Amino acid sequence: MTRQPGLNTQCVHAAHAPDMSTGAVVEPIHLSTTFERDADGSYPRGYRYSREGTPNRAALEACVAALEGGIAAVAFASGLAAIMAVLELLRVGDHILAPLEAYHGTLRQLREHVRERGVAVDFVDFSRPSAVEAAINTRTRMLWVETPANPLLSITDLATVAAIGHEAQARVVCDNTFATPVCQHPFDFGADIVVHSGTKYLGGHSDVLGGLTVVRGDNALVERLKSWQSLAGAVLAPFDCWLLRRSIATLALRVRAQCRSALAVARFLDTHAAIERVYYPGLPQHPGHAIAAAQMPGGFGAVLSVCIAGGSEAAFDTASRTRLFRRATSLGGVESLIEHRASIEGPASGTPHNLLRLSIGVEDSEDLIDDLAQALA
Ligand code: PLP
Repeated sequence: MTRQPGLNTQCVHAAHAPDMSTGAVVEPIHLSTTFERDADGSYPRGYRYSREGTPNRAALEACVAALEGGIAAVAFASGLAAIMAVLELLRVGDHILAPLEAYHGTLRQLREHVRERGVAVDFVDFSRPSAVEAAINTRTRMLWVETPANPLLSITDLATVAAIGHEAQARVVCDNTFATPVCQHPFDFGADIVVHSGTKYLGGHSDVLGGLTVVRGDNALVERLKSWQSLAGAVLAPFDCWLLRRSIATLALRVRAQCRSALAVARFLDTHAAIERVYYPGLPQHPGHAIAAAQMPGGFGAVLSVCIAGGSEAAFDTASRTRLFRRATSLGGVESLIEHRASIEGPASGTPHNLLRLSIGVEDSEDLIDDLAQALA
């Protein structure tokens, strides 16, 4: 039997080959918006107009589809554009079940856009499959999962929730941004669609915005997403596709190192007197730890949240004293970030006001721990 290539090999080589015309090992960036027809009017090279497709976008899409184990990926101008494309599959009268805890932009799309156009939206606690099952009705067509979820890192049992969704003929979507294909493969547990904010770990350097949807096995679904991509025009520019593809070459190297450091940081914070609580699925006391250990074989991710003793003021004070951790929103980059989550989420946020979210970068974990120790002193 031939051995499957390892993840680092896949990250470097998936959908990547030297340029046929020049031999260049690094793929060129094709900026052309339009492509020439043959004399008979056909487009034998597969490209016509760049909103519909470009060589750089095709390479990125093929690479992410391969890493997730899906049949195809469809790239968008941001994570939220990818999420919107999936939510647009819902028709008036359909029902979607969504988690109480998820990226606040996803929750806002559901409340402010999806509901407004006549789709019924209910929010339940996805860490309790019985609550999901109880909220299903005959019109439920989609279940939205984010695991680990933002910002309390709650865990959804993907296999159980996917089975509940499929029993009801609903599609199961998983936002795999926090886990990445390095830690978790939602298709192995029954998800039908995976979405990513490519802005985070796939990009990895906080310098490119992008999003992707990946489809497990339904060609008609790929066509619907591609149609939305082209007609809504929320496409990713060739340079951004190239940057994302370039960064994915080091995805497994980065994410594995970030997960190791996140666990070290979480263990340190867990014993610190100034910390009320640490939210990280890699800690045994996290309520989703056992499920995360089973469905995240590659690691527990590199985002964690902490509640600081002394309330909101103490949380702001702590963030003001860090030297390596940058005070900024977002996650997944090589540089560690710290942020007061409730203030970025706005007035509708239910996030505790003493909560800081940490995105662990690729710095040495000892330096990150020293930085937090002095900020908490
Ligand atoms: N999904 C998750 C889990 C996120 O954290 C984010 C952004 O923070 C998004 C989606 C949206 O991605 P983007 O900012 O690329 O639109």
